[in-house]
Amino acid sequence: MKPRIYLSLARMSGREREFIDDAFATDWIAPLGPNVDGFESDLEEYLATGENPSFRVAALSSGTAALHLALLALGVGSGDEVICQSFTFAASANPIRYVGADPVFVDSEPGSWNMDPLRLEEAILDRLRIKGSLPAAIIPVHLYGMPARMDAILEIASRYGIPVVEDAAEALGSRFDGRPCGTLGRYGALSFNGNKIITTSGGGALVCPDGSARDHTLFLATQARDQAPWYQHSSIGYNYRLSNVCAGIGRGQMTVLNAYVQTRRAINRYYAANLSVRPGFTFQCEPDPRFRSNFWLTALRVNPELAGGITPADICRRLEAENIEARHLWKPMHLQPVFADAPYYGGDVCETLFRQGVCLPSGPLVTHADQDRIIEILLRL
Ligand SMILES: *Cc1c(COP(=O)(O)O)cnc(C)c1O
Repeated sequence: MKPRIYLSLARMSGREREFIDDAFATDWIAPLGPNVDGFESDLEEYLATGENPSFRVAALSSGTAALHLALLALGVGSGDEVICQSFTFAASANPIRYVGADPVFVDSEPGSWNMDPLRLEEAILDRLRIKGSLPAAIIPVHLYGMPARMDAILEIASRYGIPVVEDAAEALGSRFDGRPCGTLGRYGALSFNGNKIITTSGGGALVCPDGSARDHTLFLATQARDQAPWYQHSSIGYNYRLSNVCAGIGRGQMTVLNAYVQTRRAINRYYAANLSVRPGFTFQCEPDPRFRSNFWLTALRVNPELAGGITPADICRRLEAENIEARHLWKPMHLQPVFADAPYYGGDVCETLFRQGVCLPSGPLVTHADQDRIIEILLRL
């Protein structure tokens, strides 16, 4: 059996050890410390464009924690509704329930595969009609690294005065109209889980609008301790901070982030160039030059009518037989049993993508030879 080709394995730059060794040498194994500070300022530097001078980054234990804290910071709670892109991973929507609010799901648009601005406005107006109040937040997702149509989403959100929480967990290194994903909404969540574009083994960050929003985030992330000589608490806190050891891995990974974006973009181009010749095969692609994806994962769509009836299950099974990992696209949240009661606004765009799509191995360890093997299998299927 040939060695396994994984969907998206992390790869170390070689410099992670320096930062971790530093943590050990200086006895900063405990939470917080110089690596956490350094990782946060590395991220701030990376995300800065001049148009967003005031934002600040808080390093956290996961992307899910970042979304949770963003909703808390916005005061979202019981009785509120939050609009969320349906086509996503469950971690985008679960925090809505953590704060006791109710998710309202919205379909994708065919260009970016992300939140459809028309459906978003339809949902806002219909919730206003039914509930008599506006949704408390909007969560668009940059799926597989592809930016959502942020100009239209932000315009609608500001017209109704609803804050946007960007789920940029898959999109560090992506840009919309020159602006880094994660910095476009009021808050932006990043993830450094093991399979993301960079990893801290597990971790995340919240991009906050300013220093005081960051201070409040850190207050909640470290058990909400009041200023007092003893442990005193006036609100409910969480244990959501990133450890200094994990942040050391993140500092090392930041040195290769741009190279990894280049690698994943090249992997995407190679698949697209070699597989688009097959009738019925198309890819998630940048709708116009304002969209710049990190192509965290390359997502292939197979129209069964044009491709001899091939389904994603066929593709996954066939590749698995060759020890190659592939994965169905995210199953939309409005089709998930746990969210069966949630309202949904849209048609069948994301349902069709789910029924027809598959993610191909896209990590920095995937070689040209690996891609050639995968391409040959898919062309013969
Ligand atoms: C990975 C991911 C998250 C959650 O991040 P964790 O760090 O794993 O908690 C949230 N949303 C999306 C779209 C993701 O892919």
